[in-house]
Amino acid sequence: MYDVIIGGGGPAGLNAALYSARAGLRCLVLEEMFAGGQMSTTTTLENYIGFPDGVDAVALAMQMEEQAQKAGAEIRYEKIESLDLSGAVKKVVTAKETLLCKTFIACMGAKPKQLGIPGEEELRGRGVSYCATCDGALYKNKTVAVIGGGDTALEDALFLARYCQKVYLIHRRDSFRGVHTLAEQVKKTENVELVLNTVATAVNGDSRVESLTINNVVSGETGELVTDGVFVAVGTQPGTSLLQGILVLNEQGYVVTNEEMETEIPGVYAAGDLRKKPLRQVITAAADGAIASYSALRYIEAGR
Ligand code: NAP
Repeated sequence: MYDVIIGGGGPAGLNAALYSARAGLRCLVLEEMFAGGQMSTTTTLENYIGFPDGVDAVALAMQMEEQAQKAGAEIRYEKIESLDLSGAVKKVVTAKETLLCKTFIACMGAKPKQLGIPGEEELRGRGVSYCATCDGALYKNKTVAVIGGGDTALEDALFLARYCQKVYLIHRRDSFRGVHTLAEQVKKTENVELVLNTVATAVNGDSRVESLTINNVVSGETGELVTDGVFVAVGTQPGTSLLQGILVLNEQGYVVTNEEMETEIPGVYAAGDLRKKPLRQVITAAADGAIASYSALRYIEAGR
């Protein structure tokens, strides 16, 4: 029986593991993909305090994993299939086994949203991508379009501009949701062309992406933009499918907690990007993880 099982090995989960292990709790992290979660799909973190020149996101994720393991946390790469969190002993079911724990911390993060337009699903992996840092290098000297106006879209446009001959940044409004400094950098980058007040209505191509159908939402004009790749960066959706019907989720599907990261089920906590919160960053995810671990410790101690 584990004191705490943590679902997800991003910054929230790994920091919860570090704090739990250091508090002497028997702790297991279950991660389905790779350490760092969404963080590991970005390049340089420029806003994680303590690194004035920025820090490589993947390298930092691996150090987080190593630090949690060194402190005594167990980390396994296994997908959680289902959860039974109602009793005092909670059950976490993977494809291999059913694991038991006193407390569970949900840190399953968030994943990229889809546009839901014709051609997007059909051409996914054949020109349609949701991760510029993963797939950008495939588009060396080519033309790509990034869709979105948040930090991810701005960062993607800057990243792709290094490889690609031409980057179109398509945003449905004329001002960006992402931070001013990034937007200014994008505007100064010669091979990035802003296509504002515009939505993509279809991804076209036979075996690969060939073009996007676009629509100017102000003039109503429709056109076709020739491109080799489409990078969709229109936000994220929470990884809470396993928690539906178990925990209270808000309208967008995020877990509702209090400041202690407690959910309405005793011994069950949520931390990081899957939680309803005002700011989803590596630093806030890590902080959530620390608080959730502290709450789990207090819960376990109260029952001893
Ligand atoms: P986001 O901030 O939610 O922005 C999503 C963007 O996509 C918005 O500009 C939105 O337009 C647009 N959009 C949404 N649905 C759309 C649709 N169906 N069609 C066309 N456009 C659509 O998402 P994000 O950029 O992925 O960022 C998520 C969180 O991660 C944010 O808190 C962000 O600050 C953080 N983040 C931080 C960093 C960093 O600090 N280095 C890097 C990446 C992400 P509207 O603006 O019109 O709503």
